[in-house]
Amino acid sequence: MCASGKKMNEKEVFQACMCPACPSWVNCGEQGAFCLPKVGKSKCIKAEKGCICAGCMVYKMFGLRNTFYCTRGSEEEQKTGK
Ligand code: SF4
Ligand code: SF4
Repeated sequence: MCASGKKMNEKEVFQACMCPACPSWVNCGEQGAFCLPKVGKSKCIKAEKGCICAGCMVYKMFGLRNTFYCTRGSEEEQKTGK
């Protein structure tokens, strides 16, 4: 996670997450925020039909660079190629 982690707490990230409005979203009881390392990939989103993370407040606040956290893993995972 980046150094600006204190700007927003976890609860606020879940609240601000735009995933439920994304074309790739699958409604299966998940809460989004897949960009967070402790959340990671979705268990039910399998098809990448577009990603709207770039328009999310969390994305800007944490200086995120990747997309499709639901299928490819958190920012950290994608960076390190885990
Ligand atoms: S950046 Fe993407 S995964 Fe992270 S909170 Fe925003 S919409 Fe959700
Ligand atoms: S991580 Fe991106 S692709 Fe996945 S549901 Fe959220 S906005 Fe959509």
